[in-house]
Amino acid sequence: MRVTDVRTMLLEGPDPHGIGGRPRTWQVLLVRVETDSDVYGLGEAPAFMGVREALAYGRDWLIGRDPIQAGPFTRMMLYGSMLPGDPQTSPTATPTGPIAWAASGIEMALCDLAGRAFRAPVHALLGGAYRDRVRVYIDRSGVTNPTQLDAWERAGADASERDFGFLKFDLEQIAPDLATDRWNRTLNRSQLAAISERLSAVRKGAGDGVDIAIDAHMMFDLTSSLAVVPVLESAGIAWFEDPTPITNPDALADLRSRCRVPICVGEMFVPEQFRLFVDRGACDIVHPDLLFVGGVRAAHAVGQYADLHYLPLALHNNGSAMSTVAAAHVAAATPNFLGLEYHFLDAKWIGEVVRREGVELFASGTVPMTDAPGFGVELDADVCRRHLAPGESLF
Ligand SMILES: [Mg+2]
Repeated sequence: MRVTDVRTMLLEGPDPHGIGGRPRTWQVLLVRVETDSDVYGLGEAPAFMGVREALAYGRDWLIGRDPIQAGPFTRMMLYGSMLPGDPQTSPTATPTGPIAWAASGIEMALCDLAGRAFRAPVHALLGGAYRDRVRVYIDRSGVTNPTQLDAWERAGADASERDFGFLKFDLEQIAPDLATDRWNRTLNRSQLAAISERLSAVRKGAGDGVDIAIDAHMMFDLTSSLAVVPVLESAGIAWFEDPTPITNPDALADLRSRCRVPICVGEMFVPEQFRLFVDRGACDIVHPDLLFVGGVRAAHAVGQYADLHYLPLALHNNGSAMSTVAAAHVAAATPNFLGLEYHFLDAKWIGEVVRREGVELFASGTVPMTDAPGFGVELDADVCRRHLAPGESLF
């Protein structure tokens, strides 16, 4: 079996509950690897700057090759060939950024393809499933008017009413109305007081049985991160995600040593960065994203490395149903798994670009797993056709 094509399809449509609860347009980039047999694979890559150019490079390299050899493919994309005179070198030889993100999308499709070829679910190819349903956490970001306490209470109640017992909010979206300097990475005293009050309202709406995580998007300085910790502790927060910029593991190790809320990092990391943060004692939870870390097997490997240090794995995900189901296979095959992210409860189309026969994407706040070959998904041609971005065609 040989690869004959790597195709991409950009979809576009509304996301009514985006950052801070404000509507936005969202794009989904799907990948399909085709072969000279009737076996193909589906994946997803982030629709970010430079990714399609890197996908085209991967396509050129893969055509004519064995699609089961996904390891050599991602190795080539991230590091290039070590053979002297071999022209197959990575365009950047840098295992981060668009080249790693494109490799992630193609590797996901190659995993699906291998599962279809061997008639096995991807979780079985990863060593077997530890669970038959994968817990989901819903990213709610914030509310449209953050000054209204009842809006925060409703935000806490809403997701649990929809059967999800695990939520996440963005720290910088809780009290943006009180910010005085958008550049200095600092939370002022008014913001800290408002964060305390508004998080209490979320907790009141959600109830004690719901887990709530807080994401800081690498925005704050060490002093502000330390100052907000007592607020997070009293609200019973499940984890504090990316408090400071992620280029300095020592700052996070310092914060972690003075903080009882677990520190979660790594949504844009490749495995080497996880190694650095875990070895420095700079995190309690590793949080790779299949679309950025190098693909399915890289995310699984990060989970295994964390398990050797008795650290749990959560999975970052702001992709469609495609990447959500793919990540669920990694989660099912990872004993130390904690929760898988999903953003798009209010953008129905994003959860329907691919479907699993007879199984909904979510049931009781989880992704129920199946034993269908590959990821067990097929494109919903109607949904995709309705959301094709300008100039795109269906594959
Ligand atoms: Mg995050």
